[in-house]
Amino acid sequence: MEDHFRHLWEEMNVSREELLGIGTPPDSKTFSMTVLALNTSRKANGVSRKHGEVSRRMWHFLYPNVEEDAVPIIAITNGVHVPTWLSGPMVKLLSKHLKEDWSQVHDNQAIWEKVFDIPDEELWKTHIGLKSRMFRFVRERARRRWMTEQITPNQVVAMGSLLDPHALTLGFARRFATYKRATLIFRDIERLRRILHNPWRPVQLLFAGKAHPADEPGKFLLRQVYELCSSPEFGGHVAFIENYDKEVAHQLVSGVDVWLNNPEPPKEASGTSGQKASLNGVVNCSVLDGWWCEGYNGRNGWVIEGADDESAANSIYNLLETEIVPRFYERDPEDIPVKWVALMKEAIFSTAAPFSSRRMLKEYFEKVYCPTDGSNAQR
Ligand SMILES: *Cc1c(COP(=O)(O)O)cnc(C)c1O
Repeated sequence: MEDHFRHLWEEMNVSREELLGIGTPPDSKTFSMTVLALNTSRKANGVSRKHGEVSRRMWHFLYPNVEEDAVPIIAITNGVHVPTWLSGPMVKLLSKHLKEDWSQVHDNQAIWEKVFDIPDEELWKTHIGLKSRMFRFVRERARRRWMTEQITPNQVVAMGSLLDPHALTLGFARRFATYKRATLIFRDIERLRRILHNPWRPVQLLFAGKAHPADEPGKFLLRQVYELCSSPEFGGHVAFIENYDKEVAHQLVSGVDVWLNNPEPPKEASGTSGQKASLNGVVNCSVLDGWWCEGYNGRNGWVIEGADDESAANSIYNLLETEIVPRFYERDPEDIPVKWVALMKEAIFSTAAPFSSRRMLKEYFEKVYCPTDGSNAQR
């Protein structure tokens, strides 16, 4: 603060103590950016209902005269830009079955009811097409790097060129911040190995992500995952896509079957990648935190239970063994996983409108930027 803001207290003609005081809680000597922001903003909000609750509890001490419920931090749940994150083939399919101007009014949930009338075969074929496109993308990246850089055969394997395009595929793509627990699923290596290596019902994991350059524990987690990807036990079953960016995110959120999300509750404020996946019929398997507390409806995915790492990992294995794997591989005579497709439809229906940025922006407009209750009147 001294380095970067010294000029400010001179310019504003206030003392150093006065300026820093705006960002210092009572009875404390520690300057906090959050406290500064809360004290200088007219409105404050969390980015999911749960994040609103957690924030009111965390910052209650700044508002000692009100009950926790009345702490002036509201919640506006994040959403994703549907036209950006819905894959092209899904847009095409929806345009055939939804009303003509659906994309102009896509925050109206009623228009999405028609998703349930899409023939299972059409939705499944669209998904399979997207999944194949993702595997081509993965192999093409490996091929190019093999040709242009001196990468090793082990790296080619780790990059996913030996994955099976027909196997149940779980995706995990996000920043490698430690609270997101990227290595949780490897907690019981032997049990995971049995799940992935089942010859009749194989399962594979596709990771992508970046760690912040200064985040040493995050980089350590990333390296651990990467090493497993070319190990004899997991090579060909677990892969890591490097250089996570919007294009990689696009491929993964529309091409995998299940989106795995296991951060340490209550640290995930919202988690928008799960919304991108669900919108494309990729089913979430997630801890109850952030957006999933309001997104999960009992029919559109799974909840990972457990308060500590060990029980959360066991919950993932139990879900995989008893629910996810059997449901994915249960096929009708046409090789369509009818019950899985039902989950996909429910995922699309329950996320597209409520977790669209269109809904979010309207809510910011009504509750924050232009409220009609006069709460923005000049103080
Ligand atoms: C959506 C997205 C994120 C945020 O995802 P979380 O679920 O909040 O971790 C980060 N990076 C990229 C490239 C994304 O597309």
